[in-house]
Amino acid sequence: MAKVKYDMELRPNPRSGRYRLISANWKMNLNHLEAIQAIQKLNFLLRPSDYSYTEISIHPPFTDLRPLQLLIDSDRMRIRLGAQNCHHEPSGAFTGEVSAPMLARLNVSYVIVGHSERRQYFNESDETVRSKVKAVFNSQMTPIICVGESLQEREQGETEAKLRTQVDTAVSFLPPEIAERCVVAYEPIWAIGGGISAKPEDAEQGAVTIRGIFQELWGSDVAGKVRIQYGGSVNPTNAANFMQLENIDGLLVGGAALDPESLARIIQA
Ligand code: PEP
Repeated sequence: MAKVKYDMELRPNPRSGRYRLISANWKMNLNHLEAIQAIQKLNFLLRPSDYSYTEISIHPPFTDLRPLQLLIDSDRMRIRLGAQNCHHEPSGAFTGEVSAPMLARLNVSYVIVGHSERRQYFNESDETVRSKVKAVFNSQMTPIICVGESLQEREQGETEAKLRTQVDTAVSFLPPEIAERCVVAYEPIWAIGGGISAKPEDAEQGAVTIRGIFQELWGSDVAGKVRIQYGGSVNPTNAANFMQLENIDGLLVGGAALDPESLARIIQA
């Protein structure tokens, strides 16, 4: 299991020592021609200092990965390629699926695992998420593990218990030197796609809970290295409020990441 190779010019957050990561989840949007245009425009809008401040990963549909890989390589863009999902087996009779080794061959660095839409529409359980985390690490990539509570769970005071179960099931089997490389995205389900984000204090509380679970499992050294993103209706206006938080190291952005101008403004916020 290899480490993500950091861009030499990328600077960690001096306060936490962790590298910031802003990830664009395009979901089932943008065909490969539209994707090429979007990433070219994004690269045009970003300044070298933006890439030094934060790592950027783009997670397009599978059909866009190969053209974007070629473009990123040929234009030496400092953008990381990401995927939105993978199967947990390396190969086999799983019609319609894509494996982690296949993504690794496309220079994919980050794979979103356990997004709430996958859990809701494709019945992904905490155990499925766990097997995907293992598959992603086995292929020398990094999982972005999505966790978060529903509105009903929040209203019933079950947020912490839900995060605990999701995080613990997904990562507790990892050895500490791998666990510290995890990226966890705290995405309250009620904040996704609706335009109403969590309050910064709620995002921070979710991140504190998640970091606390790593602390209990492996101690403060590992917990201090894990990167935690906030996701849920992030836009250019509210992005900075989340990036300032002590335990938030980045953002997972859906709708607002489809427009390169708005994504660039989020990165620069
Ligand atoms: C997401 O899908 O991970 C997400 C955060 O979406 P949005 O930004 O549109 O709420």
